[in-house]
Amino acid sequence: MNITIKRFDRYKQPQHIEMAYKIETEGLTLLQALQRIKSTIDPTLTFKSGCKSGICGTCGVRVNGKEQLACGYKVQDGDVIEALNYHTLKRDLVVDKSHALDSLARAKAYLGSYQKANITIEEEKRIELQSDCILCSSCFCACPVMAVNSDFLGPFALTRVYRYAMDRREANPKEAIDAIQKNGVWDCTLCGECTVACPQGINPKMDIMNLRSLSAQYGYNDPNFATMSFGVDFGNGFGF
Ligand code: SF4
Ligand code: SF4
Repeated sequence: MNITIKRFDRYKQPQHIEMAYKIETEGLTLLQALQRIKSTIDPTLTFKSGCKSGICGTCGVRVNGKEQLACGYKVQDGDVIEALNYHTLKRDLVVDKSHALDSLARAKAYLGSYQKANITIEEEKRIELQSDCILCSSCFCACPVMAVNSDFLGPFALTRVYRYAMDRREANPKEAIDAIQKNGVWDCTLCGECTVACPQGINPKMDIMNLRSLSAQYGYNDPNFATMSFGVDFGNGFGF
């Protein structure tokens, strides 16, 4: 089997190269294949992993242009492997995720003001899925808005805001709703790429739609609405 890895080394020229590796990868996960390449062909190949069981979110990469956890993906002949998008490259498949993770603080995606509350099973179920986020950043890298606005808060931060806004132990959900009005909830195009990319089955697009409803309840509306065209104004209040 042949796989290609897009590699990066800031101290070499050229910094970006594509290397093809021929290995026996039958039945291997991508992470196992990378470990085999490192131990038998090229010890300089650099990648990251943690739990090796899809829980820690450390080994996210792109395979043929789609985000995957290397520990859960069965490698195929001809696969092209590269680092995650929209992060600072450190080396080969290792990226610095700090910009993406900073979005959690910018969005106030945490329990801000605690109050005592008895949570029912139904209420817990409503935020159970969002609580499964492993911060792998796959959704962030799949989001086309990041290509044009690096300040966009991104899907996983918004999903987490929704998770805490719906938690009755949060005494002041408005604080986070205020924080996501700029570069946040209205900047999403609702394309759904984040939902497709999520290995945990989380649906950030739906959470963002729900956050829009919550925002409206707090008096906000889509700022783009004011600039939208609804046709020709004939001066009589009717347009087409
Ligand atoms: S639905 Fe919104 S947040 Fe998700 S990938 Fe598309 S633009 Fe980004
Ligand atoms: S929402 Fe899904 S894809 Fe995004 S960071 Fe969390 S687990 Fe990863």
